[in-house]
Amino acid sequence: MISGSTTYDISQILDRAFEQYQHAGDLLKKIGSVIARQRQLAQDAPLAPLNNLRIDKEKLKSGVSVIQQISLLGDREDLKHITLVLAKVVKEVLPDLGEDLDHLSELIQKGRLVPSDYFKPSAKGAGDMAEVWGNKLKVSPSNAAFIMSLVSRVVLEQRAKEVRQALGAFEWEKGYCPICGNYPSIALIEEEGGKRFLYCSACGQNWRYTRVVCPYCEKEASKGMDYFYIENKTQESAFVCDECNKYLVTLYRAGNLFARDMDVSAIGLIHLDILMQDKGYEPMTACVWNVLK
Ligand SMILES: [Zn+2]
Ligand SMILES: [Zn+2]
Repeated sequence: MISGSTTYDISQILDRAFEQYQHAGDLLKKIGSVIARQRQLAQDAPLAPLNNLRIDKEKLKSGVSVIQQISLLGDREDLKHITLVLAKVVKEVLPDLGEDLDHLSELIQKGRLVPSDYFKPSAKGAGDMAEVWGNKLKVSPSNAAFIMSLVSRVVLEQRAKEVRQALGAFEWEKGYCPICGNYPSIALIEEEGGKRFLYCSACGQNWRYTRVVCPYCEKEASKGMDYFYIENKTQESAFVCDECNKYLVTLYRAGNLFARDMDVSAIGLIHLDILMQDKGYEPMTACVWNVLK
């Protein structure tokens, strides 16, 4: 594990990131305070434990993620507190959304909007509830979807922890997340030995994955697959695949560095997102910070 199981001081990590990634200062300030609150909530606002942790390791081995086996975003949790806290911090950093978030918070407090409903399976699929809230309660669907994606991370981070404790070691050979099924937002390569770890921003899980295969389309290394570097920056790169047209920002780690928050590191590599998207590549997964167009 490179993160997730250790406790670390997110404010110290953010302070270091401001120094290291000055070009991303504004973004780090805004999203950083949201991330800091998310990490606190994941530790301090425990959810009721999952009552079904029957996960088949054989299925995992064949690529069936945990979320495809058991419900991780069930409808039993009370997500009121988490949603209200995150709506408040987002309002502080993005005042333009203030009016809409006040409206959403009021509806939650009055019990007219139940945050956990957002994750109920629906016939139309994800995002459906944002439409319903928009039509019935006049909450902007895009703002509701934004807040609920932040809530989802807090819930999934706790669930990932529970699952790891219940499962112990397991085999996983896919490029998408073993817990929640999302594609990675950033990779980390150990300079010694060269192992590549992929990291999922949707739940905070990381897992080892071969360096010579594209995590997205599973194409094996060929001439069409490469790492893109910026001159004088040997610690940072973007993995690019011409088969699926995706890129993955990648960090190299030498020796024992500070504990890091991989989301904060990913935001620090935003210059690579800009470059790769200018070249016509797409990120493997959409995050708050890498949707540029
Ligand atoms: Zn995940
Ligand atoms: Zn690919």
